[in-house]
Amino acid sequence: MNKKYLSKTMAALMLCTSFASFANADKPTVKIYATGGTIAGSSESNMDTTDYKAGKIGVDLLISAVPELKDFAHVIGEQIANTDSNNINQNILLKLSKAINLQLADAKTSGVVVTHGTDTLEETAFFLDLTVKSDKPVVIVGAMRPATAISADGGMNLLEAVRLASDDDAKHRGAMVVLNDRIGSAFYTTKTNSTMLDTFKATEQGYLGAFLSGEPHFYYEPTKPVDKPYFDISHVKQLPKVKILYSYQDQDPALLHAAIKDGAKGIVIAGTGNGSLSDVMLEAVKETMDKGIPVVRSTRTGNGFVTPKQEGIGSGVYNPQKAKVLLSLALAHGDNLKTIRNYFEN
Ligand code: GLU
Repeated sequence: MNKKYLSKTMAALMLCTSFASFANADKPTVKIYATGGTIAGSSESNMDTTDYKAGKIGVDLLISAVPELKDFAHVIGEQIANTDSNNINQNILLKLSKAINLQLADAKTSGVVVTHGTDTLEETAFFLDLTVKSDKPVVIVGAMRPATAISADGGMNLLEAVRLASDDDAKHRGAMVVLNDRIGSAFYTTKTNSTMLDTFKATEQGYLGAFLSGEPHFYYEPTKPVDKPYFDISHVKQLPKVKILYSYQDQDPALLHAAIKDGAKGIVIAGTGNGSLSDVMLEAVKETMDKGIPVVRSTRTGNGFVTPKQEGIGSGVYNPQKAKVLLSLALAHGDNLKTIRNYFEN
């Protein structure tokens, strides 16, 4: 326990609060939506980077802890949630996406930043990528070390995220993930390591760019993923339930049946290899598809493409958690099995 360090940190953060109210009208407006996570995490020990409490620090304190933000943007904060990202639910996602769509329609706003826990950051980032209709940057940022840790990464990550959101070159690139001085496409980027700083990667597709002394540099001209769909969720109040199952040797269909009985409207399976399944699972997948319930076969390998399937739907480039987001949006949109297959197998 290091109470002295903690109180010093909090005192420093409190001292900076006055900066949060500095209007900066000559700079581009960036709105920060805070949802919690490690970037807003706090621990009694400055050495603790695994047992802290996520979602403890509010958006005003997050902003005022980095007074340099005002050198680059007129920053406004809104607390959408303050929680561990494992608690982010569809109500929060729908609220966030609708709020961002409205905010980006404002001519003065150059971009938005979402602060988020890293565990499910990629799901929110992908959801926003598919549901925000704007060419302005949507930047999702987190941290691997809580605000109270030695060498906490949140402050620099937030500064980089705001600089990216206020940068003209960041337009027309879809939603982006910022951590560890890297810019990743929300469409492809995934969390690859449970505890290390360099966790967010797209192994096949790489990064869009990087930060040098906090300034964004892109490797490519603006580009979008092939066949990226867009879903208008302005009237969506609820997303249909989609469940993810995990495959292994000798898997039986008991959990698949339980998921359907529990009201799942779609299933994603993290299959082995190229979305492979045991014979009894293949039979159950066929029966489920025959009932009109889509079953998307992704892969537990963490990388690669799942090719089109006879039984079920091959997930293509989408990992299980991204396939779940896409499938639930397609179901909310009322798409039939043929259209759903096209999203994944095209
Ligand atoms: N489990 C927490 C979360 O996702 C902490 C992980 C993190 O933010 O790095 O919110």
